[in-house]
Amino acid sequence: PMLANQIAAGEVVERPSSVVKELVENSLDAGADRIEIDIEKGGAKLVRIRDNGCGVPQDELVLALSRHATSKVETLDDLEGIMSLGFRGEALASISSVSRLTFTSRTESQSEAWQAQAEGREMAVTVRPAAHPVGTTVEVVDLFFNTPARRKFLRSEKTEFAHIDELIRRIALARFDVTLILRHNGKAVRQYRAAQTVQEQERRLAAVCGSPFMHHALAVESEHSDVHLRGWICSAQGGRPQNDLQYTYVNGRMMRDKLINHAIRQAYDELLPAEQHAAYVLYIELDPRQVDVNVHPAKHEVRFHQARLVHDFIFQALYTALRQHGD
Ligand code: ADP
Ligand code: MG
Repeated sequence: PMLANQIAAGEVVERPSSVVKELVENSLDAGADRIEIDIEKGGAKLVRIRDNGCGVPQDELVLALSRHATSKVETLDDLEGIMSLGFRGEALASISSVSRLTFTSRTESQSEAWQAQAEGREMAVTVRPAAHPVGTTVEVVDLFFNTPARRKFLRSEKTEFAHIDELIRRIALARFDVTLILRHNGKAVRQYRAAQTVQEQERRLAAVCGSPFMHHALAVESEHSDVHLRGWICSAQGGRPQNDLQYTYVNGRMMRDKLINHAIRQAYDELLPAEQHAAYVLYIELDPRQVDVNVHPAKHEVRFHQARLVHDFIFQALYTALRQHGD
């Protein structure tokens, strides 16, 4: 199983940001609304995620760290209707096979916390009592310490941290209801506060995308045939290149989809041919049975059952918004 875990780790854990992604998604699955992310040396030294989610009961700790024990996909129906982020049941096992992993957790019904430790080759999990509020802290130390070939592929501290920063930005835009705090080498780098009101949301949008984006952003909202679109589009150039500010979400998941991008591009091209850098944050919501999400973790593609309808709706909604704005 050790080898299987390390092979699986190759799929799931490419670099520190992949560890952060899996752990934060677990925290979100656990219902956390406050997640603190501590990084040291770009994540190669330490990734620590602390959340206030539901926690794991003591008797399930060992299970949580073993591969496939928790896979939520049992039937094809599960796959089609799946809404929770984690469904492969192998992230923790994979990560712990290539690092020293400590998982500390407490549920509401437990009066004390429990800590499980798994380290590289042995995979022996030891469980002991610990101090922790309701929620979970996962510490991943010395990533790839036992797979030197992979450790060699890590880029500079700065580059690895930039990947993590970008990941947290995407998550911050997906979950306005969750406070996200990111620190690097002990220094607070990002503090995205949970936002409810429109003002709070716009403040958070500015924190994530920068004030030039916010300054030119135009709120859009539209609905057609049970497909819902909302978000912000930028109709003018801000003070800096913004072609990196292109975020689209389908049912809460970040996507980079050809069909969606084409519809957006087309709306911009019709009205603003000179616009070189379109910047946008858009959320598409529809019946999960109307869309297939590629189960490969690294791909961000979707297949809409009614592709034409979705494409034309997105185009129309943005075209209308941009045109009204131009008037
Ligand atoms: P998956 O998320 O696909 O189930 P993981 O290996 O990522 O697989 O996690 C295994 C299990 O550990 C989860 O299903 C969940 O029960 C538990 N778990 C992991 N992280 C947390 C967390 N932060 N809070 C509560 N439970 C967690
Ligand atoms: Mg998971």
